[in-house]
Amino acid sequence: MASAKPNIKVLRYRDLLREMRQRGQPGYRAQQVYQWLYQKAVLDFAEMSNLPKTLRQELAEAYEIGTLRVLQRAVSRDGTVKFLLQLPDGHRIESVLIPEGKRRTVCVSSQVGCAMGCAFCATARLGSTRNLEAWEIVEQVLVAQRHLWEVGDPRPVTNVVFMGMGEPLLNLPAVLQAIRILNSDHGPNIGARKITVSTVGVVQGIYELAGAPVQLKLALSLHTAIQEKREQIIPLARKVGLKDLKRALFTFYLQKRRWVTLEYIHLPGFNDTEEDIRALQRFLGDMPAKINVIPYNPFPGGPFRAPTEEEFQDFIRRLRRLPYTVTPRAPRGRDILGACGQLALHQVRLESVKPVVYTPDSPPA
Ligand code: SAH
Repeated sequence: MASAKPNIKVLRYRDLLREMRQRGQPGYRAQQVYQWLYQKAVLDFAEMSNLPKTLRQELAEAYEIGTLRVLQRAVSRDGTVKFLLQLPDGHRIESVLIPEGKRRTVCVSSQVGCAMGCAFCATARLGSTRNLEAWEIVEQVLVAQRHLWEVGDPRPVTNVVFMGMGEPLLNLPAVLQAIRILNSDHGPNIGARKITVSTVGVVQGIYELAGAPVQLKLALSLHTAIQEKREQIIPLARKVGLKDLKRALFTFYLQKRRWVTLEYIHLPGFNDTEEDIRALQRFLGDMPAKINVIPYNPFPGGPFRAPTEEEFQDFIRRLRRLPYTVTPRAPRGRDILGACGQLALHQVRLESVKPVVYTPDSPPA
């Protein structure tokens, strides 16, 4: 049964400040609570030892502090960790922690499943169930942070990408609220520039983000700049044409003065011809852009095949003739089905790929 009490982790710092004032408390109490919640990631008001006992009790009466249940962690050979998490209403989502040098990136889900139906994405097979609440997004980051502490990694989570399950721009209020909380320097203190929202092309959402007073990064999952081809793999493209997308991207660029990142899955034989490359140049024109090229990550029953290393390198070489920054993306966590497009829970059987899987009760040796 879902509890009637709100989770305290839906409150921005200034909401909590107001709340403390209303309770007749000095402002620094908000700072203390935020530190407990986000810098120590505690799960019980009783642990907030520098708060008066009565305040701890009052807060416990008014709010939940609960977390997401970690049902499973799968650790890739490359260090990527995929978490299978259970929400209070029983729904399950996945998130992925990607350590890389000094970076600790968490790839968060914004919805349970996804309604967009993209042909190349395993999550699409699930359909859509519901939007996540802001705290359910924030908590995915805290789960990853607690994991890092547990395995003796002292680094904080440094980056957050909305590239897990779901279309974040169809859940914009909660996504923006989560970003404000993650961004707070009293809390997780993750810089807005280190937060990336990825969309398949929800233009209203792009305009809203362009107008929002936060300097986050936007990524557009383009995958092809040929309208008819895009319609074949992305149902939304039938409603939102490349022209609409370009206008929205350009507005974002003008507002934020920030390059837009394009994501381009390499689907060998489908979107890697010379014609595709010319179309990409026509689409981008003078707009400064960075193109992340991702080799297609296969999943059981998926309609495409992954490019060979040679095909991939050849495509990158040809793309580099264009006047944009082209960055090949190494797939991370493929062996645990934790790479882009592979998040689909039970539809794909973890056992078939033999990852290191353990539950919180049986940590790895
Ligand atoms: N709905 C958002 C965010 C989730 S998908 C979006 O579409 O951007 C995150 C990224 O993974 C997107 O760029 C998506 O196109 C990519 N992706 C999906 N399936 C993939 C696959 N099988 N292989 C590689 N990347 C994939």
